[in-house]
Amino acid sequence: MRGSERRKVTSCQLLGLAAFVSMASVSCRPDAQSQSRSPTAHATVEVSYEQVPAQARAAFQFATDAWSSILVSDVPIKIRVSFTPLLTRGLCVPNAVRDFDGASEANTWYPSSLADAIANRDLQPGEYDMEIFFSTSTNWYFGNDGRPAKGKSDFVFIAMHEICHGLGFASLLKVSGGFGSYGRNVFDSAPQVSFQIPDLGGMPSIFDRFVENQSGNRLVDAFPSPSVRLGMELSRSRLFFGGANAIHRNSKRRPRLHSRDPSHLDRQFYEPDPINGMMTPGPGHVSAIHDPGSIVKGVLEDLGWRIKEERRDAEPGL
Ligand SMILES: [Zn+2]
Repeated sequence: MRGSERRKVTSCQLLGLAAFVSMASVSCRPDAQSQSRSPTAHATVEVSYEQVPAQARAAFQFATDAWSSILVSDVPIKIRVSFTPLLTRGLCVPNAVRDFDGASEANTWYPSSLADAIANRDLQPGEYDMEIFFSTSTNWYFGNDGRPAKGKSDFVFIAMHEICHGLGFASLLKVSGGFGSYGRNVFDSAPQVSFQIPDLGGMPSIFDRFVENQSGNRLVDAFPSPSVRLGMELSRSRLFFGGANAIHRNSKRRPRLHSRDPSHLDRQFYEPDPINGMMTPGPGHVSAIHDPGSIVKGVLEDLGWRIKEERRDAEPGL
C-alpha cells in the first residue's frame, strides 16, 4: 500500500506501575487456538494460547466473548496470550499501524485491530494484533461470576482491561525527569513479542489526540514534545478525554483521565464506579467488572471503533 507504513508500538499497559520486567522467553508456537463468535457477536476474536491453564483459557474466552459482542468489525482480532513472570498482573503490547488508507489522523499510531476494522481488511496478515501477558505469581480467580474471593484477582476483569488497552485505550504520553513527551519508546526493555519494537518517531497514538487539559487544550497540539511544559501539564494538570462520543456518554461531561497515566480513567473518580471502573489503573480493588461501561465505549467510538448499540437512539424498525 503506497505511502503506508506498518509499524508496531510497545504501548505497554501496566496495571498501575510504570515498571517493567524482562520477560522469560516464550515459545512462538501456540499450543492451542480458539475462535470466539457468539450468536450476537459483531466481531471475531482469534486467540492463541501459550502454556495457559485450561481454567484461564475459559476465562479469557469469556472476556473475548464480551468484547466481541460489543465491537463491530469484519476483520478478526488476533490475540496471543501467555503466562510469564511479571511485576504486575497483566500487560498488553498492542501491534500498531499508521498512515493507512482510511486513517482519520495522519502521523498517528492506531492499534492494528482498529486499523483493520477501519480499512476493512487485515493490514498485517500473519501478525497478532496484540500480545497479552499474565503474571504467573498472581492469585487468580478464574470464575466468570464476578465474585472473586478476598485476596484473589478476577482474571476476566483483568483480561478485559488489557484487551481494552490493545483496542486503543492507550496513551503514549509520559513524563520523565520533568519532561513530558509522546511517541518515544515507553520502556527501556520490553517483553519478547512476535513483532519488533520500533522507534515511535515522536508520533502520538490516536488516543493521545483526544487528551486535554483543564482549559480544553489538546496536549499534543498545544505543547511541544519533549518539553518541560508538557511535563507540567501531565503531572500537575487535570487531564480529560475530549472526544465527542465519550462526552456524550458521560452526561455531557469530559471523562477524567488519570494524572501522569492518561492510559487510564481517573482512579479517584471512577474506581468506585461499578459502571465505569474497568479502565482505572490497577483495577481489582473494587468488585470485578465485566462490562467496559459507557465512557469506555464512547472513547472507543471516538478512536474509530463501531460499537454495537443496544440502547441509544433507537432506529425505526428495531
Ligand atoms: Zn491498564
